[in-house]
Amino acid sequence: MYGKLKEHLCQTLTEIKDAGLYKEERLIESPQGAVITVKGKEVLNFCANNYLGLSDHPRLIEAAKATMDKRGYGMSSVRFICGTQDIHKELEAAISDYFKTEDTILYAACFDANGGVFEPLLDEKDAIISDSLNHASIIDGVRLCKAKRYRYANADMQELEKCLQDAQEQRFRIIVTDGVFSMDGNVAPLEEICKLAEKYNALVMVDESHSAGVVGPTGHGVSELFGTYGKVDIYTGTLGKAFGGAMGGFTTGRKEIIDLLRQRSRPYLFSNSVAPPVVGAGIEAFRMLKESNELHDKLMKNVAYFRDKMLEAGFDIKPTQSAICAVMLYDAKLSQVYASKMLEEGIYVTGFYYPVVPKDQARIRVQLSAAHEQEHLDRCINAFIKIGKELGVLK
Ligand SMILES: *Cc1c(COP(=O)(O)O)cnc(C)c1O
Repeated sequence: MYGKLKEHLCQTLTEIKDAGLYKEERLIESPQGAVITVKGKEVLNFCANNYLGLSDHPRLIEAAKATMDKRGYGMSSVRFICGTQDIHKELEAAISDYFKTEDTILYAACFDANGGVFEPLLDEKDAIISDSLNHASIIDGVRLCKAKRYRYANADMQELEKCLQDAQEQRFRIIVTDGVFSMDGNVAPLEEICKLAEKYNALVMVDESHSAGVVGPTGHGVSELFGTYGKVDIYTGTLGKAFGGAMGGFTTGRKEIIDLLRQRSRPYLFSNSVAPPVVGAGIEAFRMLKESNELHDKLMKNVAYFRDKMLEAGFDIKPTQSAICAVMLYDAKLSQVYASKMLEEGIYVTGFYYPVVPKDQARIRVQLSAAHEQEHLDRCINAFIKIGKELGVLK
């Protein structure tokens, strides 16, 4: 049988390559950080989700090692059979404390948290109202649930209101949105979302993967930014971005919701427990963020510095509200050439183009980190300017 499938796969792969959409992976030969080694050469990294610079932080590495010594390497079990240690509960409590929620449930990834949140709570009598730019894992989670689906254009509150009106027949309604959208770096208008939710009697769920650790006066996410504590029923998030970057996800929110997820959420019930070293380092990450706001302050300083210098240089930057800065180039080919020339200059950035972003909206996405020093930012900005002039993007 494989012969026929192989032929089919080869044809598909060729189509992907012909369309210029084949993804090659660059090999990093160092820990994740502001400075990484690629093909024996040191380059500055501006495309990791390492917002708070914790991916190779000595305190997290130490905590992971110490936890491995005390609690071992793996759990070899799902949570409800014999996969729950004291530290899993401790991390869940730390996350609840961080988001000011009642309870938290851990998953192997936020992909699983989103995959397992809808189906246990809602059925064909209910409605899920989803932003059109929501993450793939939310889309997949919605697909696994029988609720009626509604979709509104990114952050479009008029369309959301229309969806809410259309969904009044359903028993329960939930509005679902990313906190920060990863391609433009814009924040969901949560204040208005919560107002509409109140007006039309709907629940609110926010995926904080790109927003937690980043937005809000001390980086605690969308509810800190908009003052919507108590109005958001469910948050999902990842330990794979700002909070250390290893892996692991969570759903946090109202007590009964979390309680039912522990009983019914399939990626929780049928997938392995998060490994002790990751849990130990996760606890340490939240401890660090409670002790001091230094990393978040530095991240915000870096974002402002980079954005201002790039605008001053004449670049077209999407109005960012996060640590994501989209440098607009509009042309797919140009974004690829630009990114590879940046790498020659020792700056690792990624070009995004259709279908990841709309046609004619090609860009280079820059992600700032607390691990960046001003000297790193200057080198990145200078490379942008040099190549911008070379390619005729800047006059
Ligand atoms: C990265 C991301 C995820 C997936 O997180 P993992 O923990 O890596 O599975 C989910 N949702 C959003 C919005 C993300 O940006």
